Amino acid sequence: MESYATALLYATPFFIGLVLVEILYGRFVKDQKHNLMDTVSSLSSGLTNVVKDSLGLVLILISYPFLLEHLALIEIKATWLVWVVAFIALDFAGYWNHRLSHHINFFWNQHVIHHSSEEFNLACALRQPISNLLGYYALLLIPAALLGVPNQVIAILAPIHLFAQFWYHTQHIGKMGILEYVIVTPSQHRVHHAINKEYIDKNLGQIFCVWDRMFGTFQEELDEVPPQYGVLKPANTWNPIIINFQHLWRLIQDAWRTKSYWDKLRIWFMPTGWRPQDVKERYPVTIIENVYSFRKYQPETSSSLKAYALFQLMVTTFLMLFMFYNYSEIGFDGLLLFGAFIFVGIYGYTTLMDRKNYAVWIEVIRGLGGMALIYFTNDWFGINEHFSIGSYMVALYFLVTIFGGIYFTYFEKSFATPDLAS
Ligand SMILES: [Zn+2]
Ligand SMILES: [Zn+2]
Repeated sequence: MESYATALLYATPFFIGLVLVEILYGRFVKDQKHNLMDTVSSLSSGLTNVVKDSLGLVLILISYPFLLEHLALIEIKATWLVWVVAFIALDFAGYWNHRLSHHINFFWNQHVIHHSSEEFNLACALRQPISNLLGYYALLLIPAALLGVPNQVIAILAPIHLFAQFWYHTQHIGKMGILEYVIVTPSQHRVHHAINKEYIDKNLGQIFCVWDRMFGTFQEELDEVPPQYGVLKPANTWNPIIINFQHLWRLIQDAWRTKSYWDKLRIWFMPTGWRPQDVKERYPVTIIENVYSFRKYQPETSSSLKAYALFQLMVTTFLMLFMFYNYSEIGFDGLLLFGAFIFVGIYGYTTLMDRKNYAVWIEVIRGLGGMALIYFTNDWFGINEHFSIGSYMVALYFLVTIFGGIYFTYFEKSFATPDLAS
């Protein structure tokens, strides 16, 4: 996991840089596709994902080396051909995993975060899950295992394959001619993120679009059908951690409430959105009917809250980069604690962005917790070795967090409950 942390140390500023380029470009051509709170939420979601993945918090049900050992029919040495075969095998697995995520209730929970933004831009690409807690992905790599693709090749290509899906989350690039027949392009992926009935659950490919064409899930972007982005049951929150478990929570409630034992069992594996008949009648859930007229989530905000959210995001990103930079020195227990601070932090400031009054409790408690840790360890996970006043700066940040939480909850104007109309 340390190598992944190192890769992220470089990848994170690169991705954030490109998001900034897109924002500036949008400003320049007067066609802004970013909404500040949504972008902060997207980037925060990216942070939760990489912190969770760098800690390896997943229960591996089946591992690729295990399959390789038992299934390999041939052994190919790491020549260029292996890399090509491995990349295609990864993309094939990605297509089916993505299709599974869209079509099965239980698996949709780990993917809904990626679709939860009602905008479509480079930041939205970084909405990646933390709820993928079961490692079954190797099963989809059986073709690679049969062909004897070495584990190291998969390990190196997997993050590259993931990162290569970033660029096409943009509305600033039109159709790309001949490339539309080979790879997934921005135009195709706009269709994928759209909730228009013509587009939903289409274009599930990750790098190559040939799978969609082969298996009947391809849909071209049509001029007369402008894509509308989001999910049919809107998340209605900026909090990425909540979004990661919203669908699962609904499933748990439905499974608990239904009288039918058969439904309690099968709800998990039924098509996405399926609900037992009795709970559907007793506890109706509204979904977007007219995709052209729904109101995007936009709780009341202010310029100062926006600036504050940006400040929180920047400090959190910086802290996370320091965590990756100092990864091996911090040690696993320390990393868990550090990761917990990042998670609670994101939970706290995004709840504040949601204008929920209980945010103040999270912010005060994490602020005090952070300052107590600095007081007792006289450091912040070894930061003083790199910046002599590092831990004072972090303590100051926690102090600001406490005041920010109090200020935006009690002193800033108007605290009407956020408008949750869809
Ligand atoms: Zn998807
Ligand atoms: Zn996407």
